[in-house]
Amino acid sequence: MSPRENALSNSSGTGVLFESDADTVDGTLSADISQLKKVEERKFKLVWRNIIVLSLTHVLAVYGVYLFFFHAKWPTRFFTIILYWMAMLAITAGAHRLWAHRSYKAKWPLRALFIIFHLTSFQLSCFHWARDHRVHHKFSDTDADPHNSSRGFFFSHMGWLLTEKSPLVVAKGKSLDLSDLYADRMLMFEHKHYFKLVPIFAFVLPAIIPMYMWNESFINTVCVPVMLRLVVLLNAQSCINSVAHMFGWRSYDKNINPTQNFGLSILCLGEGWHNYHHAFPWDYKAAEWGGSSSNVAAAFIELCAKMGWAYDLKTVSAEMIEKRVKRTGDGTHAIWGWGDKDLTYAAIGMFFPKYYLQNVVYVASEKQQTALY
Ligand SMILES: [Zn+2]
Ligand SMILES: [Zn+2]
Repeated sequence: MSPRENALSNSSGTGVLFESDADTVDGTLSADISQLKKVEERKFKLVWRNIIVLSLTHVLAVYGVYLFFFHAKWPTRFFTIILYWMAMLAITAGAHRLWAHRSYKAKWPLRALFIIFHLTSFQLSCFHWARDHRVHHKFSDTDADPHNSSRGFFFSHMGWLLTEKSPLVVAKGKSLDLSDLYADRMLMFEHKHYFKLVPIFAFVLPAIIPMYMWNESFINTVCVPVMLRLVVLLNAQSCINSVAHMFGWRSYDKNINPTQNFGLSILCLGEGWHNYHHAFPWDYKAAEWGGSSSNVAAAFIELCAKMGWAYDLKTVSAEMIEKRVKRTGDGTHAIWGWGDKDLTYAAIGMFFPKYYLQNVVYVASEKQQTALY
């Protein structure tokens, strides 16, 4: 084991998972993690089964784009988009914010709904998803992170699915407390029977419904609501691991790789505010702002709370956020200022270069930045 690997295996992590992990008043670690974020040279073991399956699904999905626009029936197009939203909602509000981060609690009807919707995504069981995601946060951007973005764009986007997990990922995964996940009987049922259930929900039903309900052709059904949907879903999710760990603003903590990304928030129903999310992962909103067009998952959780299906929603106080922004932010927070906002405000800064330049140039000067706050 190299000295850096040794340091990593002895470290308690580069990120926080729950509020209790934080060891500073504004919710972060006090340790310097910069040395752990480099990568060790390692020989990758390719997983050929995954390479073949993913290559084939991507080829069929590309043909699916053509069929979606020029041959598929209108009900097939709507069906594909609705299925995409269902799966994305189960990943964001369910596997991610409920199970991986415990950012709120859910009664059994909501958990059952998430499990059924999640089965349509073909992204392994909710348990598997939540466990890998906890390792990602706790050892973010190190060799113990399953999709370590320090290893480059392709590895964090798709490469990690095509290679065997590093031994450090496996070891660190075992060091985490997953007792709450093991205690959820519904979750464990899905995990145990995953490979019997997933063909039905991810492939058979999405293929049968268009063929029997509105007479869609077999090839359109296979390539559009099945392959195209699954590939877009996988790539949208993967962009959070690659794009949102490389490009964009680090408004809350400039020392970590994750960034703020408005476009991904639309595509992933509110998961693009990734710098905030890694700074405060226990917030059910996964963003400073609540339910809006840029945070559909938060709006859905708030709706479920009104219906009594979700409760104990955790969030972060404005004072705590402000403290963190002033201590570790890159200065870009000043673009939208303080208070709960809809996406419009955030979008102004990102889409109008003049507004962006005026503000970023302004906040770039440290003297003026102090004046702003
Ligand atoms: Zn991340
Ligand atoms: Zn997360």
